[in-house]
Amino acid sequence: MPDTERTWNIAAQLDDLRAQELWRELRPLDEAHGLTVRSGDREWINFSSNDYLGLAHSQEMQAALEDGIAKYGGGSGASRLVCGTHRSHVTLEEALAHFKGTEAALTFSSGFAVALGTIPALVGAGDTIILDKLCHASLVDAARLSGATIRVFPHNHLDKLERLLQTAQGRVLVVTESIFSMDGDAALLKEIVELKSRHGAWLLVDEAHAVGVLGPQGRGLSAALGVDQQVDLHLGTLSKAFGLSGGYLAASRQVIDLLINRARSFIYSTAPPMHLAHALTTMIDLISSRRGDLLRSKLHTNVGQAVQLLKDIGMSPPAVQAAILPVIIGEASQALAASARLRDSGFLIPCIRYPTVARGSARLRITLSAEHSVSQITALGSALQAAL
Ligand code: PMP
Repeated sequence: MPDTERTWNIAAQLDDLRAQELWRELRPLDEAHGLTVRSGDREWINFSSNDYLGLAHSQEMQAALEDGIAKYGGGSGASRLVCGTHRSHVTLEEALAHFKGTEAALTFSSGFAVALGTIPALVGAGDTIILDKLCHASLVDAARLSGATIRVFPHNHLDKLERLLQTAQGRVLVVTESIFSMDGDAALLKEIVELKSRHGAWLLVDEAHAVGVLGPQGRGLSAALGVDQQVDLHLGTLSKAFGLSGGYLAASRQVIDLLINRARSFIYSTAPPMHLAHALTTMIDLISSRRGDLLRSKLHTNVGQAVQLLKDIGMSPPAVQAAILPVIIGEASQALAASARLRDSGFLIPCIRYPTVARGSARLRITLSAEHSVSQITALGSALQAAL
């Protein structure tokens, strides 16, 4: 062991994580084509992927990627402002802007990178960011990085949000997810839009878990509620319902021009490969087509079946709007044990615990996909009953 590992207390930190039941490890899958995943001779039904529409392994995806690779090959070779901007990136961004109903859009290598680049580019010292308490780590880290004053309101607590808006200094940015990643519930977007407009603040909505899943053509919760035109900054990921990877920020032309000049995770990072941009443009077409509607309808039927099953086994599932169905257990040790029992009975459902969620609120996070069959969901009900 190198000496520095000893002086930096690496082993002690790892022991501490184990002692607190916060230890995590990577478990590679040998095969993950679709919802049946394999490692060695073991096989599970996957109820933990964010590939909500089942596009990641679809024929359309395969064909679009192959076409993209044949046309453009591998990596882009440089960052976007150097020589990494290809026509395929621009076409994707135009398609995203059209899809989200904004003047322009900018893509990044991940959803996390969108937040890290966007928020510090727009606000800084002397400004105020007001976040919902349950906002994703990327939004929290971006807010910290910006140097703005950070204020947090309890989840969906509008009175507190209003009080914070009344005393906020400088440029004021309200930040929320639309569908919350670990709770599956929805932000009170209509009310938040009304409040931010009344107080002259800007609003960033992270639609990572709603885009592709909710709203007309899958345009997200803000479109479903008819408030998308009042949202100033639309953030989304291309790694969940879109079935690939990357992230986007859709907004006015001027905001996007500013991000091209100021968003450091955009400027100083190699442009995503062109075949990804090419395939993602095809996925937008698919998601906003009749086929997308059918997949969403199948997904919502699956979610309805799963919610009903939980009720049938005596549980009280939360009001689920999209495809995330948490089963709150409490203690990490119990949630870990339940997840392990489910794994033993052939279901891949992770235990989510601190620091991703608050201590004492460890949970199983079930995600549904349009690809799940009725019999797979029925089998999940029985397995859950036995595991809990
Ligand atoms: N926002 C939310 C709400 C998320 O759940 C995630 C992914 N877990 C991200 C942003 C980051 O997106 P990506 O995985 O594309 O980096």
